[in-house]
Amino acid sequence: MPTQLYHENQGLVERGAKRCPRCRKIKPLDCFHRKRGKEGGQGWCKTCVRVDMACRHATP
Ligand SMILES: [Zn+2]
Repeated sequence: MPTQLYHENQGLVERGAKRCPRCRKIKPLDCFHRKRGKEGGQGWCKTCVRVDMACRHATP
């Protein structure tokens, strides 16, 4: 990760963002589901949860 991006992300984290363990991107809390359920219960961002669900439904 480039140093500049790292500092940018650190600033985001300080403002209340967190890192998604799936896509490894640091996103604002708005991008995460608040409740911990079966779907996305691992603290994934909404995008990853959506992609994961879409993949599951697409599986024949
Ligand atoms: Zn993600």
